[in-house]
Amino acid sequence: MPYLPRCQERLFLVRGVVASLLIASSLIGAAVLAASAPAAPSAPPAHDSTLAREILREMIDTRSTHDVGTTELARKVQARLLAAGFAPVDAQLLIPVDNPLSGNVVARLHGSGKGKPVLYLCHLDVVEAKPEDWTRDPFHLTEDNGWLYGRGTIDMKGQDAAVFAALLRMKSEHFTPERDIVVAFTADEEAGGERNGVDWLLKEHRDLVDAGLVINPDGGEAGMKAGRRLYVGVQTGEKISMAFEAEVTDKGGHSSRPTADNPIYRLSEGLARLSKFRFPTHFTDTTRQYFERRAAIETGSIRSDMLAAAKTPPDPAAVDRLSAVVETNILLRTTCTATRIEGGHAQNALPQRARATLQCRIIPGESQDSVRDTLARVLDDPTIKISVITPASPSPESPLSGNILSTVEKVARQLWPDVVILPQMGAGASDSKYTRVVGIPSYGIDGMFDDLDDGRAHGRDERIGVAAFGQEVDFTYRLMREVSKGR
Ligand SMILES: [Zn+2]
Repeated sequence: MPYLPRCQERLFLVRGVVASLLIASSLIGAAVLAASAPAAPSAPPAHDSTLAREILREMIDTRSTHDVGTTELARKVQARLLAAGFAPVDAQLLIPVDNPLSGNVVARLHGSGKGKPVLYLCHLDVVEAKPEDWTRDPFHLTEDNGWLYGRGTIDMKGQDAAVFAALLRMKSEHFTPERDIVVAFTADEEAGGERNGVDWLLKEHRDLVDAGLVINPDGGEAGMKAGRRLYVGVQTGEKISMAFEAEVTDKGGHSSRPTADNPIYRLSEGLARLSKFRFPTHFTDTTRQYFERRAAIETGSIRSDMLAAAKTPPDPAAVDRLSAVVETNILLRTTCTATRIEGGHAQNALPQRARATLQCRIIPGESQDSVRDTLARVLDDPTIKISVITPASPSPESPLSGNILSTVEKVARQLWPDVVILPQMGAGASDSKYTRVVGIPSYGIDGMFDDLDDGRAHGRDERIGVAAFGQEVDFTYRLMREVSKGR
């Protein structure tokens, strides 16, 4: 894959922000952290917890890396749905003919028809884990000292189990939502998957997954630090990844007869201009509200800069200071950066070619063509030819104009009264890009608080706190009921 896996990117972003911003204001920040201890959340009903844990164990213990595939786990999910009384038509196992390992399940709890269905996205596949690198078996759920260890506990079998347990609980309670609740347990979200389940279901079984709203816990993030719960994110969009090549060619010749047209020089001079360039500031609804709300958990000059930047028009000096920090800079604008360079063919020959790869992360709403035009202007040399290596697949930002933030806030505050609800733009990509591009507003929401200083998604000894998992189960059930109200 040309870029890092989603979750890794996401963690870089947020850990960086917290490291640079919260820690930067260290002493005051520490005092604030110490002063506001987390409120004790209510415990979920015992039966719900037990069921969720049982599902999590089955999911972790059933290996679903890409060499094995998701079909075996999908069969177990379907069996559980049927045993719980779902009709076969509402618990469908869907396997692409040409990808028999990439099985999916779509479950439906019928509503009273007041509003379009709500679709939950839950990928079943996990990143590979090498048992020799782990201190425990990654494919066996292990509880140890308040932690649950296993590949997928954070990404995203923990969330899958919470959604699944909530669905089964609603079924057993004979709860009739106003809107249908649809859950798609899918294949191949992680890098290396051949048949992305969400993409395939939208193309081949649109009727089953059609919805008025998507909730994707995989794109969500609940951040905590030093034992303090900071925020529950509502991810509305993702930066769009793409790559250009910048190339200069020349006839070359003997190195004893140098010329000013040397492609290495021309390209380097263009790249030097790019290195000093910042794309224009581009706030979206999401990033503006992000800074406004993020300010509430920051202190000092960072807090005041965030508030000043979020104003209309933004304060240029505040934007400038925030642009000097990588983690806030990337939220303020599109970026393009050189990631590879090559050129020349012999020690004693003038180069006939020099080229660089420029990797871009585009703010939703900007186009590949406009970014290319900007690059051409900045490189400022007609001999530098710019071409697309990896095209952008644009995906819009989902609107914050509805009541999604207030709904999440209502539910989250029942459990964690002090937590900030934070609209977020992701730097990586999740399955929400497929549902957004077909016009379904999609939000990444998750209540499983993860320590921002110890992100282990895709890494060794992946784990989630026993308490954090229990609260996720409770949060997910409450959220699914609340969101299922017709609007
Ligand atoms: Zn994931």
